[in-house]
Amino acid sequence: MREFESEDGVMLFGGARVTDLADEFGTPLYAVDEDRLRENYRGVRDAFSKHIDTRIHYACKANTGLAVLAALAQEGSGIDAVSIGEVMTCLKAGFRPEDMMYTGVNVSDAELKAVTDLGVMVNVDSLSELERLSRINTELPISFRVTPGVGSGHSAKVTTGHDGSKFGIPRDRIAGAYRRARELGFKATGIHAHIGSGGQRAEPFEDEMEVLAGIVNELKEDGFDLDFIDLGGGIGVPYRPNEDEMDLEDLAERVTGIMREETDVETLILEPGRYIVCDASVLLTRCVDVKDSGAKRYVGVDAGFNTLIRPAMYDSYHHVAIGNRFGKACTAKYDVVGPICESGDALAHDRALPDPREGDLVVIYNAGAYGFSMSSNYNSRPLCREAMVRRGKAELVREAEGIEEMWRHQRIPERLAR
Ligand SMILES: *Cc1c(COP(=O)(O)O)cnc(C)c1O
Repeated sequence: MREFESEDGVMLFGGARVTDLADEFGTPLYAVDEDRLRENYRGVRDAFSKHIDTRIHYACKANTGLAVLAALAQEGSGIDAVSIGEVMTCLKAGFRPEDMMYTGVNVSDAELKAVTDLGVMVNVDSLSELERLSRINTELPISFRVTPGVGSGHSAKVTTGHDGSKFGIPRDRIAGAYRRARELGFKATGIHAHIGSGGQRAEPFEDEMEVLAGIVNELKEDGFDLDFIDLGGGIGVPYRPNEDEMDLEDLAERVTGIMREETDVETLILEPGRYIVCDASVLLTRCVDVKDSGAKRYVGVDAGFNTLIRPAMYDSYHHVAIGNRFGKACTAKYDVVGPICESGDALAHDRALPDPREGDLVVIYNAGAYGFSMSSNYNSRPLCREAMVRRGKAELVREAEGIEEMWRHQRIPERLAR
């Protein structure tokens, strides 16, 4: 897990005091450390590209903040997008259509048309999608998503590559899909798989590469020469103290080793989402209430699962610190809970914390991936603000939503108006 420094007992984030960020912008606040974001991108790119030509397609569903996207566009990243909304958001942030690949699942004809009209290539998820796309656009290159029969992930809810998954074309039908694509007049330039999200071991990625290399060689006998193998995303991040980071150098060496030995495909594409943004962001939330229920002690904060749903949705661990009493000795164990009217609304359970008080600033670690992007208006709470920090200087990059804005697409029928 990423460690942070402090100054006079106040945690530093991106060179700024977290209390200053909270005071300047208000809470709850997602804060992004721009330098860390760029370092994470460069780290994964460099680990793989020293072995083989590598393109990073940031899987933007992890975090579609325009400022985050703009920084990654500047780094030269590409994009893996899963919806027309993501495609258009990335164009707005400065990516070009040719930098993007669209990997949808259960995609409508209208969305296929919209995406290809913008010039973005489609990574085809099913035989039905192939036939439907052939009636819309055969000019752009395509690739196929195969179900590799290898799954990996921090939760069953985000494991995607196993046999029987809703994602991809089954292994035994993939060669037929390429032949059908040729008949339909497509140029298929690559093969793709994505085994799941948050894997911490290299072996599933090796197994996945073995499967893809096997398919590539089978296709070669059929006259298909592919330009790229896309291994998808899923590189995990340590969320707990003392949890080891994944050894990227080792992963890169193993996976590219298989690719180079077994295929003559020249380009590797990777789609890391979580790895790039996760530890580049924290969620700052104010302690508003401290309660001793007898059985349990609670730290009540102003962010709930409307702001960060991962603990409630996946039982995910997010580390918690008191930003204004950083590193102080802990007094007792607390549940950190939010303002949502459900008992499941907790950000953390049984955490040793240093005597939390009203007004304290609670810092939730590793909030950059699937944090803001999964937040909601539940309990009619507006979406929160975001700031980007760079070398001690902070800028607001998203204003808090207004309450009126939650009504803007609603109508009250005339007969009910009063
Ligand atoms: C979600 C997703 C990713 C990114 O997964 P991470 O675990 O965030 O790296 C990559 N590719 C596809 C197709 C995805 O759906």
